[in-house]
Amino acid sequence: MEFRTSLHLQKATRRAKSDVANKLVSMLLHEISRALTIRTGVPSVNAPVYSQQVEGAFGSSCLYCSRSLENERAAVEHFEGMNRFRLGLHIPGNVAVACVWCNREKRRDDQMPALVLAPSGWESFLAHDSSSCSTTCKTCDYWRQMFPKDAERKEHMKTAVKKIHDFRVNFASVIGEAEKIKGILQNSVEELYRECQNFATERIDALGAQVVAQMDALG
Ligand SMILES: [Zn+2]
Ligand SMILES: [Zn+2]
Repeated sequence: MEFRTSLHLQKATRRAKSDVANKLVSMLLHEISRALTIRTGVPSVNAPVYSQQVEGAFGSSCLYCSRSLENERAAVEHFEGMNRFRLGLHIPGNVAVACVWCNREKRRDDQMPALVLAPSGWESFLAHDSSSCSTTCKTCDYWRQMFPKDAERKEHMKTAVKKIHDFRVNFASVIGEAEKIKGILQNSVEELYRECQNFATERIDALGAQVVAQMDALG
């Protein structure tokens, strides 16, 4: 069988292509976030008043696990992840600070095409209390390691959900606007993702073949 260099290039670059597409989706979501913040007239996430509100609600602890935050162990957290599945925005009420471990663990929920445990990414992350997942669930395992006792773990997660809910209520209007445009957003985001993948596939094929031809010419 003929060796197809382009096929191999595709395989090696599939991962890189989806990284690029995801990056573009995030850029589009940031653009929409800016527009929505201006339209609704709320102070932006970067305004000092917003950081005060975040600090007032969560102190300097991780909003999920309550571990104290240290500079190098803190991550900007989006309750609804800024990706093509959750369509979260960088708007007040959706942004706070978590520890890097929770931020990383939550990605598993954020990247699920359809959530099963709860209607949103953050509630889903806080629903892994070992009562409904399979015994091999990595997120349940994460929470069990932190809070080995069943009752204590469940209580902690319930409190965290309530705290986040109470915080988000203050931004109900802008969050409501974001909810309203989710349908439109979904279509645009999928279009962008698809176009980026197609562009990358076509160009990589074409340029891959070109490089091979030039290599062949070299002998
Ligand atoms: Zn945490
Ligand atoms: Zn679980």
